[in-house]
Amino acid sequence: MIAEKTLNAVSATRLQGLLDTLATFGPGNDGGMNRQALSEEDFQARAWLIGEAHRLGCTVWRDACANLFIRRDGREDLPPVMTGSHIDTQPTGGKLDGCYGVMAGLECLHALRDAGVQTRRPIEVVVWTNEEGSRFSPGAMGSSAYVDPARLTGYRNNLDAAGMSVGEALDAHAQRFADLPMREKIATHAFVELHIEQGPVLEEAKVPLGVVSGIQGVRWYQVRCKGASAHAGTTPTHMRRDALLSAMESLRPIDELAQRLAGEDKRLTFGRWNVMPNAINTIAGEVTFSIDFRHADPQVLAAFDAGLSDCLPADAQLSSLFSHEPTAFAPQVIEVLEHACEATGLGWQSIRSGAFHDAMYLAGHCPTAMLFVPSRNGISHNPLEFTEPAQLEAGARALAWSLVALAEQP
Ligand SMILES: [Zn+2]
Repeated sequence: MIAEKTLNAVSATRLQGLLDTLATFGPGNDGGMNRQALSEEDFQARAWLIGEAHRLGCTVWRDACANLFIRRDGREDLPPVMTGSHIDTQPTGGKLDGCYGVMAGLECLHALRDAGVQTRRPIEVVVWTNEEGSRFSPGAMGSSAYVDPARLTGYRNNLDAAGMSVGEALDAHAQRFADLPMREKIATHAFVELHIEQGPVLEEAKVPLGVVSGIQGVRWYQVRCKGASAHAGTTPTHMRRDALLSAMESLRPIDELAQRLAGEDKRLTFGRWNVMPNAINTIAGEVTFSIDFRHADPQVLAAFDAGLSDCLPADAQLSSLFSHEPTAFAPQVIEVLEHACEATGLGWQSIRSGAFHDAMYLAGHCPTAMLFVPSRNGISHNPLEFTEPAQLEAGARALAWSLVALAEQP
């Protein structure tokens, strides 16, 4: 009942106003956004957001990685329900990636106040620092350091292009927001992240809401094929050892392996190539190329790993560059999100995330799941990023319902 009431108090106009105001901090040159993590623009956006939170009667904490926690108290002092995302952007980013999740969370706090609802558990809106990783490496810095604080020590020495360290930027943040009390990791009842899909699935299906089942895992490899560089005109066929030909002959078998294992869900990319000496009249003596393979099922990733070397020439060198296991979201949170979508009266479907999100790390800390709304033409990390206002409203309404339902749980 109170979940319904809060859902109905969500205002599309106010949500759009919040998004528009946030977009005034760090506009790009191209109609999009350029608000780098822990930059002056980011600090100004945070100062505005903290003011909004205080006006709503909320408490705001910061932590050692400059994550912000905006709490609306509950009737009981139980572990809170958290929602949120990030407000840093790509250098040529849009106005919605990350920002939508935080602004929709804030709109839910407005709606709770307007509806006169006080939930059993506290509800918190979180701003995770540096999700994009475009100024400082790695991405999802704030959420990963929150879940495992030991990671922060390593992050602090990472430099941006101008030579400033993460540590220096965090110290500047601590100085700027010295008034905010500090907090460490706390027990959390559930985390829900609302985000734009950044892909075409929901738009193509004409469905306004997606309940995310999990985030696919990824394997990165590099393959090095050996040949012998020699004169293009004088080397006879039987003496040629062409590294590029041997590399290319392995592509079809690798693709067939991925197809056999993943079918329609195949996500296989040979994105980066290096040909040596890369000259028009010399046979390639050495070729390296990358393989990016993604899937939601750890067994499929393992089977690809096991079968890969059989697809390559005997003398090729295969090295693994990076791997991340798939994330399966919590069934009990997914169930609440499904009910929340039903409560909007609109269509929804189950969907898998192709991109990484802060929720990936939170899933290692507490029961976690995500909601998606469509992205026009599947575009993001681009000024053209766009979602219909009615779909933005639908996402915020589903979020409001789910936060209240989770926060009423014993
Ligand atoms: Zn994002």
